[in-house]
Amino acid sequence: MLDTRSVCFYFLIGLLRVFLSDVAQGCENVPIPCVNAVDDEDCPSDYQYVSENCQTSTMNTDGIITRLKRCSCSDDCSSSNCLCGQLSIRCWYDKNQRLLQDFNQTEPPLIFECNSACSCSQTCNNRVVQAGIKVRLQLYRTPNMGWGVRALQDIPQGSFICEYVGELISDAEADDRENDSYMFDLDNKDGEVYCIDGRYYGNISRFINHLCESNVFPLRVFMLHQDLRFPRIAIFNAFNVGFKRFWDIKSKYFSCQCGSEKCKHSAEIKKRFLFLSNQTNNEGIYSIYCK
Ligand SMILES: [Zn+2]
Ligand SMILES: [Zn+2]
Ligand SMILES: [Zn+2]
Repeated sequence: MLDTRSVCFYFLIGLLRVFLSDVAQGCENVPIPCVNAVDDEDCPSDYQYVSENCQTSTMNTDGIITRLKRCSCSDDCSSSNCLCGQLSIRCWYDKNQRLLQDFNQTEPPLIFECNSACSCSQTCNNRVVQAGIKVRLQLYRTPNMGWGVRALQDIPQGSFICEYVGELISDAEADDRENDSYMFDLDNKDGEVYCIDGRYYGNISRFINHLCESNVFPLRVFMLHQDLRFPRIAIFNAFNVGFKRFWDIKSKYFSCQCGSEKCKHSAEIKKRFLFLSNQTNNEGIYSIYCK
């Protein structure tokens, strides 16, 4: 019998080619279709879709339950008494699971969601990212930026979109890898630095493209463990379109195609920058396109 999850759907609706009804193959709460109305490129298959971070070598994440800071709430964790909220300064989620309007998206605090040691319910106010993707997204072929991600619905400001998921690797391993265009650096003040690499294993976030005026931003979130070396990266819808930065990566050959008047990384600007600075390895500032 055919496994319907692995069947590649392919049909024509005018010029729009729908390749795959769900690139996540049922791993997410909602299906994520893949469409191409631009060229003959097939749905990308050179990676393994995973809905949670994975490891190809042991990272020794500290997930010991008795070490977790936890709350003892018997309400929905929306009060200022919730210890998990206090760890994040306060609980920043409202009743609709969106970030509060006064959330500082430029210098965001670490977010500690409730965990398996908390006495609250699984539906408390402080469990947003761990509940997974709720918005409808689509993988689509862009005219000049390869594959990209767009939303199939209006997403209110401050909403969780998706997590940046991939392979957890050490900084040393990241330096050895030739293709660094899918890497997200997990900065850590303690010196041990790790990265999430979405090149070989990743979720829908690996297709999110750069824009110089981004409409989303990343948050560092802790859920199942509180090992500060391994925050999970949650992507939220920004409060103002034009948020300036999504992630920094070490990019050697990046030139931006976003087309914005404020673009800082077009081939033209980059050529000028390289000429002025005589550098060959400047950093590109990446962001996400989710519109
Ligand atoms: Zn609580
Ligand atoms: Zn809690
Ligand atoms: Zn709770």
